[in-house]
Amino acid sequence: MRSSSVEAIVLKVLDYGEADVIATLYTREQGKLRGIAPNARRSRKRFGGALDLFARLNISLRIREGLSRLEEAAIITLSSHIREDITKVAHAGYACELTDLLLPDGLPNSRYYRLLSAWLERLNSSPPSPADRLFFEINTLNILGYRPELAQCSVCGVPFDGTRPLTFHPSAHAITCRFCAGAGRPVAPSVPERLRSCLVTGRFGTVVFTTEELADAGFILDNLIIAHTGKEPKSLRFLREVE
Ligand SMILES: [Zn+2]
Repeated sequence: MRSSSVEAIVLKVLDYGEADVIATLYTREQGKLRGIAPNARRSRKRFGGALDLFARLNISLRIREGLSRLEEAAIITLSSHIREDITKVAHAGYACELTDLLLPDGLPNSRYYRLLSAWLERLNSSPPSPADRLFFEINTLNILGYRPELAQCSVCGVPFDGTRPLTFHPSAHAITCRFCAGAGRPVAPSVPERLRSCLVTGRFGTVVFTTEELADAGFILDNLIIAHTGKEPKSLRFLREVE
């Protein structure tokens, strides 16, 4: 067991026993971990109500395999505006569940930590938007090495030039040109370019999607994410209901 200081985002909290809390955290320095905060529901001094969903915290802890021991937490931001809006809660809950499902324990990824922090900050300060969700999803897939081919047809290699009709194949997780299309969903020719822009700009709110692009890109990314999580995340179902 070693002592450590980390910056962390609270993904999940669970009351445990009389006064303890078990939290799942995504930390900048140690990746994902679970920790028990003894007496957290009584000790205002050590935790001060900090162990709340979507909060970003500085935490002192003793790292143990399986379940670390949280000793103290200081708030960087509580993201309290997210909790005032059910659609924001749905987006943030989905981002946290994806983090829990897709990121391995104990393996830090500073790029992903920055992306998740930026998404929660964006949700806390702006109205939720489907374009921002796509931005978060395609960057998540890219950082984790799951990015779909966005420059050319996955079968014949013809470049996507923004004019040729395209098709997405949910079972093959690939976008192809019309000539290589079997059964699949037609996709607006501009969608790959739009998603590539999300990877290049690195900032929420800078890529504008048409209604058709939003629907097609949303279909592609939801399918890719379900392929990598192995099942539809519960929070995705909830998000679709409130969207
Ligand atoms: Zn092709």
